[in-house]
Amino acid sequence: MIKMSPHSENKKGSLFVVGLGPGDVDMILPKVAKVISSATDIVGYGPYVDRIKPRSNLTIHSSDNRVELERARLALELALDGKTVVVVSSGDPSVFAMASAVFEVIENGPTEFFEINVTVLPGVTAMLAASAEVGAFLGHDFCTINLSDNLKPWDVIEKRLRLAIQGDFAIALYNPRSKARPDGFKKTLSILIDEGVGDRLIAFARDVSLPSQYLSSMRIVDATPEMADMRTVVLVGSSYTRKIKRDGVKNFYIYTPRYYGE
Ligand code: SAH
Repeated sequence: MIKMSPHSENKKGSLFVVGLGPGDVDMILPKVAKVISSATDIVGYGPYVDRIKPRSNLTIHSSDNRVELERARLALELALDGKTVVVVSSGDPSVFAMASAVFEVIENGPTEFFEINVTVLPGVTAMLAASAEVGAFLGHDFCTINLSDNLKPWDVIEKRLRLAIQGDFAIALYNPRSKARPDGFKKTLSILIDEGVGDRLIAFARDVSLPSQYLSSMRIVDATPEMADMRTVVLVGSSYTRKIKRDGVKNFYIYTPRYYGE
């Protein structure tokens, strides 16, 4: 059952901001599937709304990737009109996705936006699906950095990368490399080597959970920028992250132990 938030009666329509997981339909939360099945309107970026089965009483509003705030405003306006609106993101809606955009528009919008009952439902984010595919890559303290400098300056990214290495976190890197940003990931690899961690493990997980899934792992010094694209999440090991190899069903697993010893 979807509970109403305590501070708002459902005077207007409602707005759900949901995560569709990494791609495999079986990784969509049942609760998310339920709200999608009762929606009147779906709002989202083209490839994500394409995952929703069309039906007669459902309007699908598909948009470009770069218009997050407009998309959030459209969703809120449809909800004000009494619709049951579902904004879809891949993975989790709070991880570099639509949930923040919705709240940004609410904060700066008319007071009526507060009369909409907004519910955020989580999803399996790419880094967790990728970590699980190889074993337990993110098994101990880790952090996440979005390598896109579309919305924040590169200096901030570089500072966070260096501090994450100095903090000995395992790191998940989203949006590693796009056609519009061909050099950011090359710079990232140089920064990791400059921080003296070139011998640590790095894993590239592309299209996690889909039939086209492709995983690879190596030492950071052996990685090349072309190994990453926008369908890849990159995992960088901490000093404890290790690969265990045996002849067996999978030949290897990568994990980060939780035990630090005495
Ligand atoms: N909200 C999404 C992330 C959106 S940012 C989530 O929680 O997963 C888009 C980035 O997510 C991509 O550039 C890629 O780095 C990562 N990503 C999303 N789905 C992925 C998948 N199935 N396999 C690998 N990486 C994925």
